[in-house]
Amino acid sequence: MSKTRIISTEEWESQKICTKRVHEWYASRFPDRSPLACVRTYGCQQNVADSERIKGMLAAMGFGFTEEAAEADLILFNTCAVREHAEDRVFGNVGALKNLKRRRPSLVIGLCGCMVQQEHVAEKLRKSYPFVDLVFGTHVVHRLPELLERVLQGNGRVFERPEEDGVIAEGIPVRRDGGFKAFLPIMYGCNNFCTYCVVPYVRGRERSRDPERIVYDARRLVADGVKEITLLGQNVNSYGRGESHGVDFPALLRRINAIDGDFIIRFMTSHPKDATPALFETIAQCGKVSRHFHLPFQSGSNRVLRLMNRGYTREQYLELIAEARRIVPNIAFTSDVIVGFPGETREDFEQTLDLIRQVGFVSLYTFIFSPRKGTPAETMDDPVPAEEKSAWFQEMTSLQEEIAAQRLAGMVGQRRRVLVESDADGYLEARLPENVIVRTEGDPSAVGHYAIVEITGARSWILSGRLVSIEE
Ligand code: SAM
Ligand code: SF4
Repeated sequence: MSKTRIISTEEWESQKICTKRVHEWYASRFPDRSPLACVRTYGCQQNVADSERIKGMLAAMGFGFTEEAAEADLILFNTCAVREHAEDRVFGNVGALKNLKRRRPSLVIGLCGCMVQQEHVAEKLRKSYPFVDLVFGTHVVHRLPELLERVLQGNGRVFERPEEDGVIAEGIPVRRDGGFKAFLPIMYGCNNFCTYCVVPYVRGRERSRDPERIVYDARRLVADGVKEITLLGQNVNSYGRGESHGVDFPALLRRINAIDGDFIIRFMTSHPKDATPALFETIAQCGKVSRHFHLPFQSGSNRVLRLMNRGYTREQYLELIAEARRIVPNIAFTSDVIVGFPGETREDFEQTLDLIRQVGFVSLYTFIFSPRKGTPAETMDDPVPAEEKSAWFQEMTSLQEEIAAQRLAGMVGQRRRVLVESDADGYLEARLPENVIVRTEGDPSAVGHYAIVEITGARSWILSGRLVSIEE
């Protein structure tokens, strides 16, 4: 049975008291203005969703927001640990704040998120970044008011990174970034322990939110005018597993699909070992669910998939794709793939290229293997030199470009309903259900509306089109 612990009303009430005291602290220091927070988010959509809660709590403490670190009273980096490159960027950007802190000692500098949940990172921050005041892990985001208050009390640096997992904090205020698009977390953590991945170590065990709360949140988003809701989890296909409410992911999708209103439902990420025909049937029957499936395969070689502990074979993956296409004929696939996993040979890599050819993904998120501390793959024998891995990576991205260009060229001439997302450089950018961007001329007032576009041209990643009509 589930070990999930929802934080109690008393716990949350005590955070509200800290919220009020932080508000008063800043009001007494800066009677003429609101304090400003600069919150930077690295990594995946889950971090974006966490940052929206962090900003919600900060707004309740009286903070306004700025993109400029130089004018902020609080700088908070919400970090990612998935690849080394992301960590290096954070260390570089934090290092650059040293002079700012020297000039303005009242500035509070904080780090949170996956990276700081790792002991060796916390140790490095303790020893080499003495100007960082606040470090808190992934299981205590809801305690930000209390932790910030402790920093403001001036009793030294605050490091709070308990290993406790299984916590779900409900009722945190949310300050959403995207007006008509929203991320809605449905679960946290991961139980899969793919051998390359740090997520299960820094995010804890898988736990699912209560379906009633999710549906309630979705209803509120729709009532607020949100037109696209992306349901988030590391493995949404195992939503509800081990919980007593008995609602699985297809059932949850059906409930959200039944909410009145004109909106699109997306979800990510799906794990192939848990994707079922029942899910494809649900997608086929739920008109609001986008006919797009992000289904990471990671490698096309059975030997490498076994070493990765992925729990499926390339044949099973391909059969899943075929089955999904039988049930949802126009479904589009995107995926994640890792090149250069320890011990991967040219033969293994060619299996990956072959799988890419067979499936015909609309787009691919491609990564070079990055060893992560404490994961089994960190210590696996890795004889292939970095230059060779880079060459494979290039080869793979070129192949995908060709495939994407062909797929996109096949869409020319179609008329499609899209959500206009932004205007940039004098063009509107809208997204097709299969997660492809189409660029058209048009008035910026169309942003946030559904529109009909005619697709007139294609390059490898992007379509061009003509705006036919805009819906109110
Ligand atoms: N839970 C999702 C899944 O299983 O597909 C993905 C989570 S992970 C944050 C996103 C992607 O990062 C993974 O699909 C994988 O391709 C990539 N990734 C994770 N660990 C990596 C590593 N150590 N090196 C390179 N890429 C990695
Ligand atoms: Fe990482 Fe695998 Fe879990 Fe995805 S399923 S978060 S890749 S361990």
